[in-house]
Amino acid sequence: MAQSVWGYDSDNGPERWHENYPMAKGDKQSPIEINSKDVRHDSSLAPWHASYDPGAAKTILNNGRTCRVVFDDSFDRSVLRGGPLTGAYRLRQLHLHWGSSDDHGSEHVIDGVKYAAELHMVHWNPKHGNFAGALKQPDGVAVVGIFLKVGKTPKPEMKRILEEIDNIKTKGKEAPFQHFDPSILFPKSRDYWTYQGSFTTPPCEECITWILLREPIEVSPDQMAKLRSLSKNVCCPGFWGYNQACLASVCEDKKTYLAVIAAFAVFAMSCSCPLIFP
Ligand SMILES: [Zn+2]
Repeated sequence: MAQSVWGYDSDNGPERWHENYPMAKGDKQSPIEINSKDVRHDSSLAPWHASYDPGAAKTILNNGRTCRVVFDDSFDRSVLRGGPLTGAYRLRQLHLHWGSSDDHGSEHVIDGVKYAAELHMVHWNPKHGNFAGALKQPDGVAVVGIFLKVGKTPKPEMKRILEEIDNIKTKGKEAPFQHFDPSILFPKSRDYWTYQGSFTTPPCEECITWILLREPIEVSPDQMAKLRSLSKNVCCPGFWGYNQACLASVCEDKKTYLAVIAAFAVFAMSCSCPLIFP
């Protein structure tokens, strides 16, 4: 696999990333499958809170692998706190992973269920100076993961991102994307699973505290079609990218280990105390 050409095709996909990025075979690699029967409730976990400034949104771009919304992270402007985190983490970008059809596309798998897509909100810990420094630390990055499933009551808030896709159809296209509060994309429930893992794209740094939201949000078939209409270059409409190499092959033992240490918390929207748990 040539340097810098990782992707999601058979010749450069997740199964081969370790050839150029050895970390991709590390022992804290994401994604994982969460088996709810193996997950333990941790009563010490707190609720998480996001405080996002709509003015921090800057641009939306097609980098040939996903669409990404970029935020101003030069100061504590849009931050995530609480949950398993210590201190405030700054929102840097959000992006999506999706599949070629509605029955797969999410990276994490929940009790065997693959969702149509998975949205990642990437935050970093400013105590490490900058984003590059945070990537080298186990507590450097926090990602909120939201599952998208195709349903009859699509979340209208996804419209804003999807409307812009026509402006970034091909790789390298970028468009202004301002006055956007990404917290409108959160589901009603703030319940989450958490575990220590990695980026799901090269170099797959093991620096992420994952906060995976249990309740998916709904999108329409048309909205999914819109995502799939993005192009990774100028000639070929349609691409998708999600990483399930770890789930599929090399790290069966590791996956189990990570799922067992995953913990979850159950919270009501308006209450800061744990309510019910199995
Ligand atoms: Zn991602």
